[in-house]
Amino acid sequence: MSAKRCASYYNATIKQESDYPEFEGDIRVDVAIIGGGFTGVATAVELSEKGYKVALLEANKIAWGATGRNGGQVTGSLSGDAAMTKQLRRHLGQDAENYVWNLRWRGHDIIKNRVAKYGIDCDLKFGHIQTAYRPVHMQELQQMFDEANRRGMGEFMTLVSAQEMPGYLGSPLYHGGLVNRRNMHLHSVNLCLGEARSAQSLGTQLFEHSQVVDILPGELATVVTPKGTVKANSVLIAGNAYHKLGRPKLRGMLFPASLGNCATAKLPEELANNSIRRI
Ligand SMILES: Cc1cc2nc3c(=O)[nH]c(=O)nc-3n(C[C@H](O)[C@H](O)[C@H](O)COP(=O)(O)OP(=O)(O)OC[C@H]3O[C@@H](n4cnc5c(N)ncnc54)[C@H](O)[C@@H]3O)c2cc1C
Repeated sequence: MSAKRCASYYNATIKQESDYPEFEGDIRVDVAIIGGGFTGVATAVELSEKGYKVALLEANKIAWGATGRNGGQVTGSLSGDAAMTKQLRRHLGQDAENYVWNLRWRGHDIIKNRVAKYGIDCDLKFGHIQTAYRPVHMQELQQMFDEANRRGMGEFMTLVSAQEMPGYLGSPLYHGGLVNRRNMHLHSVNLCLGEARSAQSLGTQLFEHSQVVDILPGELATVVTPKGTVKANSVLIAGNAYHKLGRPKLRGMLFPASLGNCATAKLPEELANNSIRRI
């Protein structure tokens, strides 16, 4: 059964709610995408721009999953980067480090360009500070700062000492920080909904309340929903930890995890400016 989005700041401040139909009937496309979060929707934009015929099926609402619950921070951090670099070294040799470094920032450019190209209103802002909660954390920030300089990204970075911190944050807790003006923050739900509208304008067929219950192999794959089927040359499963498709192989390896983001009511201008003073 289709579920509503969770109660959150993002969902309370949606600019333009989605209203895609439930899937019914039988259609034929190049690519069927299962899941309407960032992975599925961004892929739909990319493929539609390249001229593929795409259908996207979302069990609940667009941005219902992790995409609608996240912090909205677009930073250069990559989970599992050390393991990724090690694996890539087998194929790319010395270029693995460069590849992973470029990967850190590639998403920033895609998002920035897409927001501008399609005029997506998602409160995109630049600037991020990573703080040192303990003195030892400054060593890590110093390494990141040095690497950014070595790789020609120094103009975006400022290493902030403990003495300089009051100029940035109205808190006595931190031992310094690293400002990165390439990093961004945005309203995740409005970005995803905006990308979904862009995909639709390019020809993607989008469906909500349309859970995929099976994928049947064949010359063309058949994606099965309770009220119809999509035949496709290729299928992208973008259901994150929520989907049950292909579970036997993945059993026990995927699970939804929770963490918290909080938002205050709108702060008075002076208090807001005193809390985060400068980035
Ligand atoms: C609390 C939290 C904070 C985070 N903060 C950040 C952050 O600040 N910055 C950052 O970059 N990342 C952050 N992330 C990670 C980021 O949100 C995820 O990596 C990203 O949203 C994953 O997108 P997705 O499209 O792969 O999955 P999801 O957004 O989870 O989308 C999967 C979709 O698939 C649908 N689906 C599943 N099964 C089926 C099916 N059988 N049929 C049809 N549809 C199906 C679901 O309904 C869901 O809508 C955070 C994550 C969480 C949970």
